[in-house]
Amino acid sequence: MIKTIALVAHDNRKKDLIEWVEYNYKRLLNKKLVCTGTSGKLIRQALEKNLPEGKFTQEIVLLKSGPLGGDQQLGAMISEGKIDLLIFLWDPMQPQPHDVDVKALLRIAVMYNVPTANNRSTADFLITSKLYHSDYKPILIDYSSYLNRNV
Ligand code: PGA
Repeated sequence: MIKTIALVAHDNRKKDLIEWVEYNYKRLLNKKLVCTGTSGKLIRQALEKNLPEGKFTQEIVLLKSGPLGGDQQLGAMISEGKIDLLIFLWDPMQPQPHDVDVKALLRIAVMYNVPTANNRSTADFLITSKLYHSDYKPILIDYSSYLNRNV
């Protein structure tokens, strides 16, 4: 079951992410959301706006802002098996001060086989998939031979 969803967007993609969250807020309500700092604040505002006052009880974990280490915090959570799905709208047009962290986050998401969307259409496919409501467990590659290598 998808329980914890990570949501991150670079500045030029934040509008896209917020629109997506507003459109899909009902599907997100019973999930724990883990976000980099600025994306998370905007997501909280967007979700609060869609609920009657006082009805907002959703757990949103705000990590550090991406350039200040948030992407790395998220990567660590993925390596600990704490993230079930990643929506990461990164900017294809602008280099980021933390490009190496972005690459590391994408790498670790692939390594742990976390369903990942880097654009809205893939995010739409993920959130409407029947697997979104199932007990799907990503298969993990066995890296034990790597650990047992002769060094
Ligand atoms: P932000 O970080 O949500 O704090 O802006 C996003 C990122 O650049 O990874």
